[in-house]
Amino acid sequence: MIIETRAVTKSYGPSPALRGVSLALRQGEIVAVTGPSGCGKSTLLHLMAGILRPDGGEVLYRGARIDDLGEARRSLLRRTDFGVLFQFGQLVAELPAVENVALPLMLGGTGRRQATAQAADWLDRLGVAELAKQLPGEMSGGQQQRVALARALVTGPKVLFADEPTGALDTLAGEMVMGHMVRAARTQGTSVMLVTHDATVAAYADREIRLRDGMLESDDDALTGSAWG
Ligand code: ADP
Ligand code: ADP
Repeated sequence: MIIETRAVTKSYGPSPALRGVSLALRQGEIVAVTGPSGCGKSTLLHLMAGILRPDGGEVLYRGARIDDLGEARRSLLRRTDFGVLFQFGQLVAELPAVENVALPLMLGGTGRRQATAQAADWLDRLGVAELAKQLPGEMSGGQQQRVALARALVTGPKVLFADEPTGALDTLAGEMVMGHMVRAARTQGTSVMLVTHDATVAAYADREIRLRDGMLESDDDALTGSAWG
């Protein structure tokens, strides 16, 4: 398993958002986490990506706990091993597409010339090469999400966390983003944890996990569904 949670709990104030959720993703697997608004999907994603820490339970990445790491170590892990894609508007407004995509590489120490070349290559792979010099404000929502996807994948993450990545897009643009996401993930063997309330989007996944009221309602993977029973 590349990443897993064991009985994670999380509360914001008095009412629990997650009440003991255990799940595991294999390498290269694309998993959709679905369920009604407020059931804890985003919270679960934030715990697994190391953005939030659980109140109880454990998060393991490649078999080692990450929930007990300090903020600096979790932040480094996010930069080196994880990619994140949120609903919308995460691009730096002042930077053209190619510089947005080159940014995570440069933060990791890659020189500008090489980072720019790799960024241009990723824009090409996602069908938006012609947008390289445009600012986010000059692009459509779907184009911005494809640039954001390039930025999330350019470092070659082992896990991509996508929280309602099509939530702000029309159907056609959403399908375009999902098609590119799935193809890119499969090409690289990247695991994807996709949070969505949209059944059409969930259908792109290999496996669906449903949450309800902060608990696992169903996991259509028999093996891991019963592993922590
Ligand atoms: P979902 O992604 O399924 O909509 P969330 O994980 O966003 O669910 O939220 C789960 C529950 O936790 C909801 O009741 C939500 O209102 C609450 N919640 C989420 N984030 C916060 C926060 N930062 N402060 C307080 N309550 C929160
Ligand atoms: P999502 O379900 O996609 O996370 P939300 O609108 O539920 O979208 O949440 C957007 C932001 O607001 C998140 O950072 C979440 O943690 C926070 N949030 C959600 N519910 C609450 C709440 N009841 N009180 C405070 N913050 C919240």
